[in-house]
Amino acid sequence: MCGIVGYLGAREAAPLIVEGLRRLEYRGYDSSGVAVLKDGQIQVRREVGKLSGLAQMLTQEPVAGHVGIGHTRWATHGPANDVNAHPHTDSKGDVAVVHNGIIDNAARLRARLTEDGVDLVSDTDTEVLAHLIGRSEADTLEEKVSEALAQVEGTYGLAVVHAAYPDRIVVARNGSPLIIGVGDHEMHVASDLAALVRYTTTVAHLDDGELATLTADGFTTYRHDLSTVARAATEVDVDPAAYDAGEHDSYMHKEMLEQPEAAARVLRGRLDQRFGTSHLGGLDLDARELRAIRRVKVLGCGSAYYVGEMGAALIEELARIPASAEAASEFRYRNPIVEPDTLYVAVSQSGETVDTLLAVQEIKRKGGRVVGLVNVVGSAIARECDGGIYLHAGPEVAVASTKALTNMFLGFALLALQLGRVRDLSIADGRRLVAGLQRLPDQIAEVLDREPELAELAGRLAEAQSLFFVGRVRGYPVAREGAQKFKEISYRHAEAYQTSELKHGPLALIDESVPTVSVVPDDELTERNVAALHEVAARGGPLVVVTHATVDLGDLPGQASVHRVDLPRNERELDPALMVVALQLLSYHAAKSLGHDIDKPRNLAKSVTVE
Ligand code: GLU
Repeated sequence: MCGIVGYLGAREAAPLIVEGLRRLEYRGYDSSGVAVLKDGQIQVRREVGKLSGLAQMLTQEPVAGHVGIGHTRWATHGPANDVNAHPHTDSKGDVAVVHNGIIDNAARLRARLTEDGVDLVSDTDTEVLAHLIGRSEADTLEEKVSEALAQVEGTYGLAVVHAAYPDRIVVARNGSPLIIGVGDHEMHVASDLAALVRYTTTVAHLDDGELATLTADGFTTYRHDLSTVARAATEVDVDPAAYDAGEHDSYMHKEMLEQPEAAARVLRGRLDQRFGTSHLGGLDLDARELRAIRRVKVLGCGSAYYVGEMGAALIEELARIPASAEAASEFRYRNPIVEPDTLYVAVSQSGETVDTLLAVQEIKRKGGRVVGLVNVVGSAIARECDGGIYLHAGPEVAVASTKALTNMFLGFALLALQLGRVRDLSIADGRRLVAGLQRLPDQIAEVLDREPELAELAGRLAEAQSLFFVGRVRGYPVAREGAQKFKEISYRHAEAYQTSELKHGPLALIDESVPTVSVVPDDELTERNVAALHEVAARGGPLVVVTHATVDLGDLPGQASVHRVDLPRNERELDPALMVVALQLLSYHAAKSLGHDIDKPRNLAKSVTVE
């Protein structure tokens, strides 16, 4: 959600800023804008809706200049419209500000400014920052910004330009990421690496509570009292191509196909065949501490919550420790009991999901121990946790998570294995699972090879207005994740149920127009699962059965509307990883057949950085 881009150097700022914002589009936004400085004047252009609208406005009313800032907004204070879009300026138009985050005491500050005769033109919290900076009588821009920030409470990533200080951009961070990119006699700043990597891979991350000044020849970082902090830029090891969709029609497609390699990366160096266990140095827990864990609680949002349910099930099964998952967005609102012998696991692709971050902070405040399952190295959640497992999925751009999600499952498998092996999981079982994990990347590739078949099925599913996704025990969170992804990108109503619950209610909805996607692995529940399918088929409900070739579906009524997808088999505990991939392909192709913008589903954002 929301993005900041800034540029200062010899080139024209506006095109570079718009291109940078384009790289952040995937995060989700509702409006955008730029401010460019020239000859002591700040020129602002803002537009509600897609970035292409802003780009078009800029061709009609261009802005010239070599210093500028830009923003994609995700409205929190006031509706998405031109007036509320960033950048915001002070009354004289000397200061322009872009801001990610929320100023908690904005209402009070707005009231105070109004009392002082300031005319606030937008509904945003951000605008107060522009006025506070503009009204400051301090001598330097850094002092003005720091003086303004001393009055605000809340979270921010911030970039400021000022007509009287045309050689610099001042930025500040508190809870919302900012990265400085160092070029050749030019400087960039952005809220996300994705906007920088095309220009430079020499970067410096600001920490919370820090400010920085960017000039064409370098940057300086400070604390709020303006005492300097030494911070050197470092090379990041990213392949700029990782941020390009290449020959794929969407990032989601590219990222699904990257899964075999991504899965191999999360496992690399972490499996121990000899002892049938895993090595997870980043957890920072020795065998005795692992043994002392009495309960595991997983916290995540959206897909990360559903994969958390899969993870909790794995931990219970392999380690026999009571484990459960909960939506992180709910957790801190029910005054949770935080116990010292519970291991809390926070799951987030971006490591920025605010609901999850706040849950982590709540646990830590109560003295609990939290480990993270996070993809983005050095992200807020990763830093807040006591230890963790990095997912090594590589950059994930599509809103619908695929490779990061699969790697989350594998991260849980590694954790469950280790927790199991310090308890009652036998070495033979440990080795069996290690071998299973080693087979998974190739088997994921086999599932991906089934794309044409799944595409055809998906096209048919997309015709339905409403669908069920069902599974039992291990298969139920798989169904939940499948339904989530389906609704996210195809905009069809998809509801997940335990297969066993069908006859307790939803069966009433089954007819020829309501297909059911059923997860039926070859395991101890197969027979019960198949019996439920017969109940659905008997009522004319079309079926897609994601299963194994060894499963006998019996003589299902209405064969013409029953389709089975036989997946490769792994160990039964690990089969969900393969089923999840098959369901991704179904969702992707359903959305594609409906002509939707797969990477940017309506109303959704990649990193949900507001509560
Ligand atoms: N709170 C600010 C607003 O509503 C910034 C939102 C954002 O992070 O994009 O304008």
